[in-house]
Amino acid sequence: MPKTKSKPHPEISQVMIMEGRNNFPISWLNKQGYCEYSIYLENVRGIEVKATRNMVVGTQEHARLEMEFKKDAEPTTFEKMLDESRTMELLSRELPVISHSYGIRGYIDEVWMTPDEFIIIDDKPGKKAFSSSINQVLGYCLAFQDMIKEERRIVAALRERGTDNIFWAAYFDEKSKNDIISLINRVQDLLVGKKDFMATNNPRKCRSCRLKLKCDKKARPGSL
Ligand code: SF4
Repeated sequence: MPKTKSKPHPEISQVMIMEGRNNFPISWLNKQGYCEYSIYLENVRGIEVKATRNMVVGTQEHARLEMEFKKDAEPTTFEKMLDESRTMELLSRELPVISHSYGIRGYIDEVWMTPDEFIIIDDKPGKKAFSSSINQVLGYCLAFQDMIKEERRIVAALRERGTDNIFWAAYFDEKSKNDIISLINRVQDLLVGKKDFMATNNPRKCRSCRLKLKCDKKARPGSL
């Protein structure tokens, strides 16, 4: 991948300025769906809280799968893999993706490359296809498509962490693409102050939120 000029955003953590545009982690599309205000608290206000058990388990599981994968993996370049996958099936883990045009970046848990299609997999704890999880995997699809610039079909998939259970999958079609672009544009608008970060009004989400003790907009029971 060619090197591009980048620097950290002066006020918002995890945002990079790349090619003159704000670039944020694709995992934020998941947080955005849960509560936009959590992004504001952590990354604009700089509030620090401990990682949840799910986050720790997720990181450990990532590391385990990565080690297992590396035992038999052959080092190669992305371009070579793309080329080889026109005639054979390949698998890549923790594939870095970046789109300068949309201002997003991240690592895809697993990509299956076949002569007919690419399957983009995001591992999740549990097996419920939340719209926020779907948004995240669609973000990976968009960045991947923007990088490969070719016509092979893309499938977005969610898999139960630590298992082979793909519990949700869908083609990355024009509608999904347009939907995710408009969501990404919303996050870009939040970053430049054109829109306000909205707090959820769902008290159930606040009850399980790791920022609840530091949040000034926590929803109260009965406010739904
Ligand atoms: S406590 Fe509720 S409103 Fe505050 S960041 Fe968490 S989910 Fe959002």
